[in-house]
Amino acid sequence: MGEVRSRRVFFAVWPDQEAVGHLAALGGNLAGSEGRLIRPAALHLTLVFVGSVTPTQVDQLQEIAAGVRAEAFDLSLDRLGFWPQRGILWAGCNQPPEPLRRLAESLAAALRAAGLVIDQRSGSALVPHITLARRVRCASLPQLATPVRWRVSEFSLVESDLHQSAARYKTLASFPLNQVDAG
Ligand code: ATP
Ligand code: MG
Repeated sequence: MGEVRSRRVFFAVWPDQEAVGHLAALGGNLAGSEGRLIRPAALHLTLVFVGSVTPTQVDQLQEIAAGVRAEAFDLSLDRLGFWPQRGILWAGCNQPPEPLRRLAESLAAALRAAGLVIDQRSGSALVPHITLARRVRCASLPQLATPVRWRVSEFSLVESDLHQSAARYKTLASFPLNQVDAG
C-alpha cells in the first residue's frame, strides 16, 4: 500500500487586483523593519480552515462547495487590527457584512453535515481578516482613511504548502457566488 499524501487545505476569498494594491501598500507602510509582509498574491481572507485531508476528501470538498448557495456581496475593509502574540497585523471590518457571515456559516455547516471535522475557530466563529504582515512590533494603528473595497463574487478551495519562509497557496477550485441585482 502506497502512502497517501495528506494535503492542507482551506476555503478563502481573494481580493481583486486594486484591493491587493491598497492592502500591500498598507502593510508596507505599517509593518516596520521587523515585520514580514505577506506577498501581494498571497493576501486572502479565510472562510473555513479545513486542515489535512486525503486526495479523496479534496474531491469531496469540491463537491460540497459546489453545492453551497450564497450571494455575491461588496466587502469593505474599514479597520486595522493587531494580534500581539505572533505580531499579526490585519485588515478587517468594524461590522462584518451579513452575506460574509452567511457564506462562511453555510460552508461550515455543509462540511459538518458531510462529517468533515473543521476547526471550531472557522466559519462564523472566525474573525474575518486579511493578514497583512507577521512578526510586527506594533505600537499604534491608524484609522483607515478610505476602506478597501471589492466585490466578492467567488470563493476558493486552496492548498497550503508550509515552507519555512512563508506558506505557499495554490487554488484548487473556485466557486461562483450568486449575483443578485441591487434595488
Ligand atoms: P503559516 O502557518 O506558515 O504561518 P498560514 O497561516 O498563512 O502560514 P496555514 O497555516 O496553512 O498558512 O493557514 C491557511 C489559512 O488558514 C490562513 O489564513 C490561516 O490564518 C488560516 N488558519 C490556519 N489555521 C487555522 C485554524 N486553526 N482556524 C482558523 N483558521 C486557520
Ligand atoms: Mg498557520
